[in-house]
Amino acid sequence: MQHGVYWTMVRSFCPKCGSDADVFYDSVCRQCFIGNKTLIESPQVVYGRICPTCGAVFRKGRWQAGGAEEDTVISFVKENLKINGEAKNIDMLITPKQLDYSRYKVHVEAKGDIKGAPIDAALDTQVRISWETCDTCSRISGGYFEGIVQVRADNRLPTHEELSKCLSIAEDVAARSQEKGDRLAFIAKTEELPEGVDIYVGLIKLGKQICRAVIDTFGGKYTESPKLVGQKNGLDLYRITYALRLPEFVRGDIIIADGTVIEVQGCGKHVSGIDLETGKRFMENFNDLMDVKKLGRREDAVSAVLVAVEGRTIQVLDPHTYATITITRPEFLSVEPGNEIKIVKTDKGIFVLP
Ligand SMILES: [Zn+2]
Ligand SMILES: [Zn+2]
Repeated sequence: MQHGVYWTMVRSFCPKCGSDADVFYDSVCRQCFIGNKTLIESPQVVYGRICPTCGAVFRKGRWQAGGAEEDTVISFVKENLKINGEAKNIDMLITPKQLDYSRYKVHVEAKGDIKGAPIDAALDTQVRISWETCDTCSRISGGYFEGIVQVRADNRLPTHEELSKCLSIAEDVAARSQEKGDRLAFIAKTEELPEGVDIYVGLIKLGKQICRAVIDTFGGKYTESPKLVGQKNGLDLYRITYALRLPEFVRGDIIIADGTVIEVQGCGKHVSGIDLETGKRFMENFNDLMDVKKLGRREDAVSAVLVAVEGRTIQVLDPHTYATITITRPEFLSVEPGNEIKIVKTDKGIFVLP
């Protein structure tokens, strides 16, 4: 009898279908509760636009950066999927299978719960891709550009290293802007010229960003000149030329700046280097210098034997004339007589290099 009583107390029936049940949801069994509920819904066919050149995706009325094709297909399905608003803790597995170049069959499995009742569902949908060239790619292929960055050097030709560094800076800046969503921040083309390089940019803003990044590295300055090139929708269209000038002096140049002979270490807004007469550090605002002239390059230096050190002066053997010359001893000199040192001959005399 004990057993019978216990059994009656826990035994319950679903009022709707009459079957046994232990757990009830809204007073009916799980089957009855979820029976008329849909966890996920999807159109039979989902359409999406992808750029075949760069993988960009047309979404919410504009082109946006895309990813791998399968990921984009999955995102199309997700965007079109209707999920029951009451459902919680949803787990989804979306499996795309390519049918041909523009169609995918996509299987979706979903799990979740509604008011605590576990529910799962599965469905199949098809994704149809419309391959369309995006705004950026059509501009690039059409030769469109908004600005030109003309990289030159002040009173000299830029070196090959400087130009290739400028190009890689420009590419980095463009890539960063694109990552941030400026899809038109592309480099349309580059043109190497005897006097420098021209960088054609798809976005005016990018031209300025490139100039700033190059100046951060090399110093120098830029000016911009806009040119009216037409009209679009009643607005004037400008193309901007950025005249970028790398500084006249570079690391390793021997210059005379207002009477001080310096080996240049850096030149931008400031000129920094080593005063070759005293060996002291030199640092001046470039614009404050009245008279600056290049005397030579570190590469012009020759080896010479240090003959004697006498207080503030030293004697070296000129490697060409074999005459003994006396010059001021710079602070950095720590070589014993009899050894070789590097000297550079300039219009302003002979100097020891550190
Ligand atoms: Zn029931
Ligand atoms: Zn594209």
